[in-house]
Amino acid sequence: MYDTSIKLINKIASFGYQAYIVGGYPRDLYLKRSSGDVDICTDAKPRDIMQIFPEVITTNVEYGTVVVMYEKVRFEITTFRKDNKYSNFRKPIDVEYVTTLEEDLKRRDFTINTLCIDKNGNVVDLLNAKSDLDNKIIRMVGNPKLRLKEDVLRILRAIRFATVLDFELEPVLKAYIKKYGYLLKKLSKDRKKSELDIIFASKNKEYGIKLLVELKLADALDIPILPWIKITPSMVVTWSQLNALDKYNFNANERETIKALLELRNKNLLDSFVLYQYGLYDCTLAAELQGVSKKKINEIYVDMPIHSRLDISLSPTEICTVLEKAPGPFLKDIIKDLEVKILNKSLKNEKEAIEKYITIHYK
Ligand code: ATP
Ligand code: MG
Repeated sequence: MYDTSIKLINKIASFGYQAYIVGGYPRDLYLKRSSGDVDICTDAKPRDIMQIFPEVITTNVEYGTVVVMYEKVRFEITTFRKDNKYSNFRKPIDVEYVTTLEEDLKRRDFTINTLCIDKNGNVVDLLNAKSDLDNKIIRMVGNPKLRLKEDVLRILRAIRFATVLDFELEPVLKAYIKKYGYLLKKLSKDRKKSELDIIFASKNKEYGIKLLVELKLADALDIPILPWIKITPSMVVTWSQLNALDKYNFNANERETIKALLELRNKNLLDSFVLYQYGLYDCTLAAELQGVSKKKINEIYVDMPIHSRLDISLSPTEICTVLEKAPGPFLKDIIKDLEVKILNKSLKNEKEAIEKYITIHYK
């Protein structure tokens, strides 16, 4: 990724433009962490970039960003700019291109996100990013009050970076987050959700949640119960405790899991019938909440004679043959009965035993 990034900025440079790697990649490299995509800043305009890289995948030309796949790495290439006016506490409505790196860095959120790497691989540190990275501090570029009010997403980004990197919030920034936290109500729920997802998925989520609570953001985020939840490893388990199904958009998988977790709250996870009904995945997640041993659940699961109705040794067609009946709704009750008997081991999951059982009870 590093070599490809250097190659890419040299390619831009060969057309006579300035180009730097900026943002998450240099930050994470300095911290010896891995990162997903690479942000590039340049004085080339989006149109110039699109000419240099025919492999452009998307553009957000309005904000001066072009996304390029180059040697299988995803690059977000953004023209040096400053953001003049902001609308609705979020989006810049007047973007102006600028000519120097320094001006571009000044519109960025935190000092730790302003570290750059140039085309020769040299680190460029115009706003003291390294010092804040060394001291583990999230510091706003410029005036925290103004910069937070311009774009309230920065509140959640600050907490997200503090959480993931285990950094402190610079005290003035922290005070203004507390003061202006109510503005989060103006932020779209999908923006909030994706930042919260990152916080809740972090190994360091306890700290992140502590910050959200301490800075009184739970109400503005529509999750007032946050101070009282149990901290557990999985993100979805955290969400399941927040009564957020009607407030945020969850994907189908998350939604199903959350519903199952709510149902499982008062159920005995060591009951093989519960495990059978809900499956190992949901029960293992529910175990985080109930403090039940995952290992124990796993042992019980492995020991269960059947894990779905397809495992029953006599098929529905065979049941009908034994009973000399045409298939009908009656099968449902019989199968249910068989599941219970087989799971509690009062009936063996063997063809003959089951044939005998249904002949006695249902013929
Ligand atoms: P990661 O990609 O690891 O989530 P990142 O720092 O690269 O973190 P991106 O969202 O990719 O974050 O943004 C790239 C860079 O753009 C940031 O490092 C920062 O310099 C700048 N940036 C992103 N969002 C904002 C914002 N809301 N306000 C100001 N600058 C921002
Ligand atoms: Mg990035």
